[in-house]
Amino acid sequence: MSEQTPSDEQPWGLATHAIRSGQRRSNEGEHSEAIFPTSSYLFASAAEAAARFSGEQPGNIYSRFTNPTVRTFQERLAAMEGGESCVATASGMAAILATCMGLLQQGDHIVSSRGIFGTTSILFTKYLARFGITTTFVGLTALEEWERAIQPNTRMLFLETPSNPLTEIGDLAALAALAQHHNALLVVDNCLSTPALQRPLELGADVVIHSATKYIDGQGRCLGGAVVGDRKRVGEEVFGVLRTAGASMSPFNAWVFLKGLETLDLRMREHTRNATTIAEWLQQQPGVTRVYYSGLPDHSQYALMQRQQRGAGGILSFEVAGGREAAWRLIDATRMLSITANLGDTKTTITHPATTTHGRLSDQEKAQAGISEGLIRLSIGLEQVEDIRNDLARGLIG
Ligand SMILES: *Cc1c(COP(=O)(O)O)cnc(C)c1O
Repeated sequence: MSEQTPSDEQPWGLATHAIRSGQRRSNEGEHSEAIFPTSSYLFASAAEAAARFSGEQPGNIYSRFTNPTVRTFQERLAAMEGGESCVATASGMAAILATCMGLLQQGDHIVSSRGIFGTTSILFTKYLARFGITTTFVGLTALEEWERAIQPNTRMLFLETPSNPLTEIGDLAALAALAQHHNALLVVDNCLSTPALQRPLELGADVVIHSATKYIDGQGRCLGGAVVGDRKRVGEEVFGVLRTAGASMSPFNAWVFLKGLETLDLRMREHTRNATTIAEWLQQQPGVTRVYYSGLPDHSQYALMQRQQRGAGGILSFEVAGGREAAWRLIDATRMLSITANLGDTKTTITHPATTTHGRLSDQEKAQAGISEGLIRLSIGLEQVEDIRNDLARGLIG
């Protein structure tokens, strides 16, 4: 079957890659992508089996290594991020672990922004530390802190931008220059923006990480992750860990993520539009003392967000007067919003970070991270925006 591909004269845009890249049709001529639920693959002869195993002949051997549905997902996401290689993983955390195992060794040092996903912090401080890899945490926006934290053995700068829940923006180009100067890799968890809103590799990052569980799925169904970067680091080193350690993506999940990618550009624009409407409305509510959303012109990094992102995305937070009691009252007064810590879903979710996602932090750590008792995080979904607003209004008034 012939496949459509972009040419040098007419490269595809992101929305087209999201729909058409990576598909290789079988002889059945299926229009939509096929799912290949198979653990192993046949060889025509003993000699062919030997050639595959020795690496002389490329091709499928076993689905822990390669699978056609997973490959389509990998090629599609690589095209969207502008990377040479992509390795799909069983979850976002598996992507981070495989990246660290593939690119670091005992004695290496990571500098990471403080406001990263809680489980990533635990991976760094509790588990990687056991294998002799240490981490120093710094403020995402304080470039001089990053610089000061770099040691002779620093091999990786790690960050998420925008941060969750406070929507701080890390300066990707500046951090890429810093990493390069110190011979370290810049690794960016691009989960909250997705390539539809931000492409870190273009700004100088070396590796991009995804939890596909969030916006790439977009409807809260499957766990998955991915690592995108160059052929050597990702295609060989990270892939080598994955095929050995085994946290590979299932073909069923890869298929769901393929369908998710097809609408990603559209969804991210609408998530952003709804979030902007809600953020502007929250700013005018008397009980709300502060709104955190980088799409608001009075956000201290609005200009940076506009420079490196195509939109501010769907995550925002706000503080209510009256601390935990008022925050819980507001959350409990909603009737439609989902009280759950997940994000990136079509359904709007509402969370009290101080007692859930950040509940394990000490009071001092919470204060340092800016997680107050009155803080509420929203992952704005794709419902009619008036209905999201009306549901929040119940709690604000009551
Ligand atoms: C959820 C999340 C992860 C972890 O992904 P899983 O798929 O849950 O393993 C990593 N980074 C960020 C920013 C996340 O939101």
